[in-house]
Amino acid sequence: MCQDIKCVFCEVKQTLLLQETRYSRLIINYFPLGKYALLAIPKRHLPLITDLDKEEITDLIILYQNAIKIINTNNEAPPLIGWFNQGVETGQTIPHFHLHIALYEKNGNLKPIERIGNKIPINDELLVNIKKIFAP
Ligand SMILES: [Zn+2]
Repeated sequence: MCQDIKCVFCEVKQTLLLQETRYSRLIINYFPLGKYALLAIPKRHLPLITDLDKEEITDLIILYQNAIKIINTNNEAPPLIGWFNQGVETGQTIPHFHLHIALYEKNGNLKPIERIGNKIPINDELLVNIKKIFAP
């Protein structure tokens, strides 16, 4: 996949992997912006959504949709938000396209974490709990 570059999404840790399809992976965000912080990523190292071909984007969106369905089924449909950044100038920190899923919180802790740039790795308890949702 990646040849000369070191990319955390190309070399994703097995402990963060939730699901895998032909072209995509669903992983736990190691630096979560709130609860249920997941990422759907293409297997190929492509920076932008516009770089993915039709089969890749279809596969990715279906994986993304299924992840939300699984969270909804197991958690009484918590309010979720999803987004992506198209390029570094929009805040994309890893140049490997990724779709975010996170729990929506009214007083959102998304902005403050982002603003102060204080990234905190996921703790073991949350990691285990999220894994249980996807592989009960
Ligand atoms: Zn990559």
